[in-house]
Amino acid sequence: MDRSEIIIIGAGLAGSVAALALARRGRKVMLIAGDRKTDDRRTTALMDQSVRFLDRLGLWDGLKPKASALATMQIIDGTKRLLRAPPVAFRSSEIGLAAFGYNFTNADLLNAFSKAVDLEPNITVIHSNASAIVFSANDVAVTLADDRQIEGELVVGADGRGSLTRQTAGVSLKTWSYPQSALVLNFAHELPHDNVSTEFHTETGPFTQVPLSGKRSSLVWVVEPQEAKRLAELPLGALSQLIEERMQSLLGKVTVEPGVQYWPLSGMTATRYGKGRAVFIGEAAHAFPPIGAQGLNLSLRDIMTLEDLVGAEPDRPLGEEIGARFDRRRKVDVLSRTASVDLLNRSLLSAFLPVQMVRAAGLHVLSQFSPVRHFVMREGVAPGKGFGAFREMVKGKILSRQPS
Ligand SMILES: Cc1cc2nc3c(=O)[nH]c(=O)nc-3n(C[C@H](O)[C@H](O)[C@H](O)COP(=O)(O)OP(=O)(O)OC[C@H]3O[C@@H](n4cnc5c(N)ncnc54)[C@H](O)[C@@H]3O)c2cc1C
Repeated sequence: MDRSEIIIIGAGLAGSVAALALARRGRKVMLIAGDRKTDDRRTTALMDQSVRFLDRLGLWDGLKPKASALATMQIIDGTKRLLRAPPVAFRSSEIGLAAFGYNFTNADLLNAFSKAVDLEPNITVIHSNASAIVFSANDVAVTLADDRQIEGELVVGADGRGSLTRQTAGVSLKTWSYPQSALVLNFAHELPHDNVSTEFHTETGPFTQVPLSGKRSSLVWVVEPQEAKRLAELPLGALSQLIEERMQSLLGKVTVEPGVQYWPLSGMTATRYGKGRAVFIGEAAHAFPPIGAQGLNLSLRDIMTLEDLVGAEPDRPLGEEIGARFDRRRKVDVLSRTASVDLLNRSLLSAFLPVQMVRAAGLHVLSQFSPVRHFVMREGVAPGKGFGAFREMVKGKILSRQPS
């Protein structure tokens, strides 16, 4: 039987980065890479905190040529409602950053991560699916689809929504669904995007354009499920024209690229993020609609926490308490992000006038008061940073009032 300190199940985006981060902290890692999705056409916007983390792992130089900066994010109320919110623009320069983050295709991210994994001496990649896991007080044993057995001190479930790791550990899920699907596509456009991402809020949900490199952008368009199917089946010319109209020709003529996909929208969170010798990261732990670019950014924060716990004393064996410690450290961040994305989504869908008033008033406050806008921007790029900057601002104001 082979043995490794840490066994990571799933070599998607979350599992691959986790393997690199833990290996770089001196731990021996086995990465169980099951069948891989080959047609993921999604793109992922990584915020400043995530980019700095990937840079620390030595991944940024390889990713930079594929990155498209997000320097301005604007929200336009595209509803026909009585109470429409004013347009709001957030500029990264207002909080001293060159960009809030960078947009990538998932395929480029996974390619870069897999190459780095292959070069890392502390990682052994096993190309098979995990078929069974047995936990005991002293270790964890994983059986593979080809009947091989491996043992370790900790198993990291990075095995996506249907996580075998989470199920075997006996951890249940809270799930919910939305009456929507996300149409996902990439398109070329006539005018440069100038690194601006525009989100139109519509009655069915957000319509979000995010820059890609060159004169290209990605689009996540949230609509009712039948409408998503209808749009995905339109000839590309007709769909391109529709998108240009929706965007009020902001980027000129639009040409949609082949490979339009749609994804049903749902949310889920595990009731615990770790238990005994198991921890769950990425979509094995939490998933929510693609609004506000949160999913993988949250997963990278799972990994930063795990890196902290596992890397603090790299020579010490990993004990049975690690799952509970990880769970305690991740609860607040995961639950608060899940709740805010859910609230935003529901507020967009609500036809209830008071809800529309609160949303319009909220966006009005954001457009008018720069301290509030700066706070929201800092929280968006790195949770906790907004509070830190707010504390500094208050401290500065108090000190400036004190006699010298
Ligand atoms: C339309 C859309 C847009 C999005 N946009 C953004 C965005 O802008 N920003 C952002 O941060 N996030 C975004 N997300 C979320 C982001 O894409 C996901 O968080 C991320 O792809 C999930 O990665 P993962 O590694 O956790 O899961 P997965 O990608 O599901 O990977 C799980 C891996 O585990 C493997 N596996 C499963 N079971 C086993 C087994 N038994 N043995 C071995 N291997 C196994 C699978 O084959 C797979 O490779 C978006 C999501 C959607 C749907």
